[in-house]
Amino acid sequence: MPQKKPKPRTAAERKSRLTKILAGLDKLYPNVTCALHHESAWQLLVATILSAQCTDERVNKVTPGLFAKYPRIEDFAAVNQGELAQDIRSTGFFNNKAKSVIGAARTVLQNFGGQLPRTIEEMLTIPGAARKTANVVLGTAFGIASGVVVDTHVQRITGRLDLTKHQDPVKIERDLMAMLPQSRWILFSHQLIHFGRSICVARRPKCGECPLAALCYSKDKVAP
Ligand code: SF4
Repeated sequence: MPQKKPKPRTAAERKSRLTKILAGLDKLYPNVTCALHHESAWQLLVATILSAQCTDERVNKVTPGLFAKYPRIEDFAAVNQGELAQDIRSTGFFNNKAKSVIGAARTVLQNFGGQLPRTIEEMLTIPGAARKTANVVLGTAFGIASGVVVDTHVQRITGRLDLTKHQDPVKIERDLMAMLPQSRWILFSHQLIHFGRSICVARRPKCGECPLAALCYSKDKVAP
């Protein structure tokens, strides 16, 4: 068994530990961004809706053909739901996703003049855009730090690193927003998502090659 690391006891120790975690992530991933391919904020919204319960890799295989077939938001607003569902079938949950994408297109056209809004409150009125999706689009497409994206990787790793006691993504996000400087909100999620895909994976994390191992006292930590 790996040696158990002592938990920080004071606010100053917790802050120092967080600074070291952020520095470690910066060293690993100085320049990372969203893995979903897109050429506009609208395309990123569609790709993010399609990415629910699906890999980014799979979504990136589907979206080139999709955006060639429906180049404008108006095309998505006008398409028959059954036809769109077939176009995105391989991403799973295709009926719900087709409904969300069509609803999103109509809302963006009717309520926002065909341009994606730039506030979280407005984004949350768009069908298919819960906080995670809204934060992805605002952060990646517009550089607006509206919150912290909490996906399955961020959820798992913030628990392992003891940055939150919560499981609920909304509560985790609230903890992270309180803990991190706003200037880190966008990059932090991208870094954790890459970290979760390559090192701190769900099953048998690669703790032997983890630069944060000295700071980790998770029960999931495994001996190299
Ligand atoms: S030591 Fe292991 S469990 Fe802890 S953060 Fe690194 S990879 Fe994840």
